[in-house]
Amino acid sequence: MIQPSVPLVWRGTGKRLSVAMLCCAGVVLLDVFCGFPPSASGSDGQYSGKQGQIVVIKVPADEMSAQVQGKFLGRTVKFFPETRPGEPKGFVGLLGVDMQDKPGTHELAVQITDGEHDRSISYHVRVLKEKFHVEHLKLPKDKVDLDEQSLARWKGEQEQVKEALASDSEKKLWQPSFVEPVNGRRTGIFGSVRIMNGQARNPHNGEDIGAPLGTDVAATNDGVVRLTVDHIFSGKGVFVDHGLGFYSMYFHLSEVLVKEGDLVRAGQIVGKVGATGRATGPHLHWGVKLNGARVNPYALLDLPFKAETQSATPSPVGESVSAAGAPAP
Ligand SMILES: [Zn+2]
Repeated sequence: MIQPSVPLVWRGTGKRLSVAMLCCAGVVLLDVFCGFPPSASGSDGQYSGKQGQIVVIKVPADEMSAQVQGKFLGRTVKFFPETRPGEPKGFVGLLGVDMQDKPGTHELAVQITDGEHDRSISYHVRVLKEKFHVEHLKLPKDKVDLDEQSLARWKGEQEQVKEALASDSEKKLWQPSFVEPVNGRRTGIFGSVRIMNGQARNPHNGEDIGAPLGTDVAATNDGVVRLTVDHIFSGKGVFVDHGLGFYSMYFHLSEVLVKEGDLVRAGQIVGKVGATGRATGPHLHWGVKLNGARVNPYALLDLPFKAETQSATPSPVGESVSAAGAPAP
């Protein structure tokens, strides 16, 4: 069995979280969000995250009615207001680091728009290389090499998805605490380089969770069903829009139990595990797209957003946190 990687989600650097704020006056160091679980932060006080991970970015701001948006590697990151008792006011954005983002330091340029008081902040985000697995798969030839007709179908399906996901819900729809859609064995690891019938293919952009045919598949969080499909590769699938450019996907279902436009809640059953599309056996392919970046869905379970009723044990400061749900090695 291939052991999954245990990627870092964020690294605590202590109770103080400093961010460098670039404004016309130059670089100012600010202490923000004391007591907030620390996000990925590089040694220079700025942010870092591995390929396929989620970096929680906090922007201090008093103007809670402001529009806050960031640009990172050409992608848009939408922020939402997040105020916790006793903490400075501010906005939070979930920055998805795509599995194939180039390692190195990139700029996240944040624009705070509030009528006359527009300003910008620049952060450095260090993308760290993830060591992805290599998987060798043997599949029937017709499932790998598409004939002309199937290729045309696949292209049309790609367009359909692109169109459906082109306009994000402008409101954050998700709530604290994310749900693992199926409790099962992870059989296809996120980011794996896939060699199909001896040929290198696109890396695996989700996690495969093996479970018996007909097992319930739950939505990871609240959202609106943006698209349901029956596609050549993903089989029967559901795309849930959680708002602000954050989508979760559930593929290879035997049955889809929701329809486009439905509002779903965290834990609501959206379908049943199946083996439709390109699948060698019953499993759920769980995928997440965050501002256009393909991220490890298990990173959601480690985000510092937990329901208040939960007695979550905070991670010791300074220790790395692994992607929850990763089976013990
Ligand atoms: Zn998969």
